[in-house]
Amino acid sequence: MAVYKYSSYVKTSTSDAFDTIYEPGSKPAHSGIYRCEGCGKEISHNAGVSLPPQNHHQHTVAQGKVRWRMSVYAETNG
Ligand SMILES: [Zn+2]
Repeated sequence: MAVYKYSSYVKTSTSDAFDTIYEPGSKPAHSGIYRCEGCGKEISHNAGVSLPPQNHHQHTVAQGKVRWRMSVYAETNG
């Protein structure tokens, strides 16, 4: 789970961008932290760069395929 110390540096959002599920290898619109929907593994990732492939880490059958979902993004315009 993403962690922070100072709440003044983060804010909540209702953006639909947090509801997008990305397939492995797809290119997300925001730079930030992405979480695997199957197992909860987190990565930092840059916008416009291919997300890690299906074989990035191993899943059990129950965990299904690797699917990435943004949990935090970096605001580029302050
Ligand atoms: Zn996973």
